[in-house]
Amino acid sequence: MQSIKKLKNIEGKIALVRVDFNVPIKNDKVEDDFRIKKAIPTIKFLQNKGAKIVLISHLGKGLSASGTSGESLLPVGIALNKFIKAKFVPNIFGKIACDAIFNMKNKDVILLENLRNDKGEQSLNKNFAKNLSKLADFYVNEAFSVSHRKDSSIVLLPKLLDSYAGLQLEEEVKNLSLVFKKPKKPFLFILGGAKFSTKMPLIQKYLKSADNVFIGGALANNFLKAKGFEIGKSLVSDSKGIEKILKNNSPLHKAMDGQGKLILPIDVVVSSKNKFINKKVSEIKKNETILDIGKESIKMIEPYIKKSKLILWNGPLGKYESGGDVATKKIIKILVLQSNTKTIIGGGDLVSVLSKLESKNYKLKPNLFVSTGGGATLDFLVNGTLPGIKALG
Ligand code: ADP
Ligand code: MG
Repeated sequence: MQSIKKLKNIEGKIALVRVDFNVPIKNDKVEDDFRIKKAIPTIKFLQNKGAKIVLISHLGKGLSASGTSGESLLPVGIALNKFIKAKFVPNIFGKIACDAIFNMKNKDVILLENLRNDKGEQSLNKNFAKNLSKLADFYVNEAFSVSHRKDSSIVLLPKLLDSYAGLQLEEEVKNLSLVFKKPKKPFLFILGGAKFSTKMPLIQKYLKSADNVFIGGALANNFLKAKGFEIGKSLVSDSKGIEKILKNNSPLHKAMDGQGKLILPIDVVVSSKNKFINKKVSEIKKNETILDIGKESIKMIEPYIKKSKLILWNGPLGKYESGGDVATKKIIKILVLQSNTKTIIGGGDLVSVLSKLESKNYKLKPNLFVSTGGGATLDFLVNGTLPGIKALG
């Protein structure tokens, strides 16, 4: 994989930059511009070298089964102009797009329409990729968060042009790779969120390579249930494979009582008749719902955070949308304000909690790396690479 930092003599050359501007839009307004912001350094880098920049992205699901166009990237084009002067072009291959590209001056930026409005994007279509390649002189992948998808602009297009990794993509690979090979020790993995089956490969992998694995979020419900605790009406997903994990790793239930790897919450916050109650995991009643991990569990993790040299955290520790955000915010605070440990944070939901806090209160220190991927980050953390990254090699 070659970095764009290696690029020379690109003045007047056309860069086709695959970005992930698949951002939430409501009433024609971009609600969260985190991903747009993250692509700006690469755009500016290419601009400073005098290139012409053509941005391509998907948005939403694109074409419907009956062939009607999906969402337009126009609102994104407007949001992008808060950061950089850019022109939105409402098609990909039509005359408007061709004319716009032909008339570009050095350092100009244009954003083409939603790639998924062409069915070629998601059908590994060689012709589609070929037509895209004709628009430019070289290709840049600055779309880490879609690089787990075998979409034409991600895996076929880089084979047809000289291809480079954008600055954020390079940072993602550099930082996420810290957990592979020889991670710094002690290495703590904190895992929350929901849907046991999607997180199971991570649990298995990091029970091998991390020194401690703390499980929170709805995933902890799966474990507590499998251990025979009453979990009331709490959310649980399919727990296939959990017995084997528990057989090979007897979980810790008390702070620091040995060298056990797997650590489960010792208390939780439940909602019961609209009240939030902190209680031991052994005291949950049938009509209660676990929303968050409890105070004692947070205290239990703190010393692990202090002694670790590397921390990986994926997934929120509670149902943060409905008041179960206390533990997640507390741990973020510890990591942001008190810790200098190299910490990698990933997962769409966890990152959205963090970026809301960041915009209000916090300035992130360089020891914290926040991954832009959701599914892509999970896949990278399991496999150490992604189809879109392989295609750059
Ligand atoms: P990420 O996107 O950060 O990887 P996930 O998508 O795996 O995280 O999980 C996020 C979801 O998990 C959120 O919708 C959150 O409400 C849910 N969740 C976490 N803890 C609980 C809980 N105790 N009960 C119900 N839902 C929970
Ligand atoms: Mg999620």
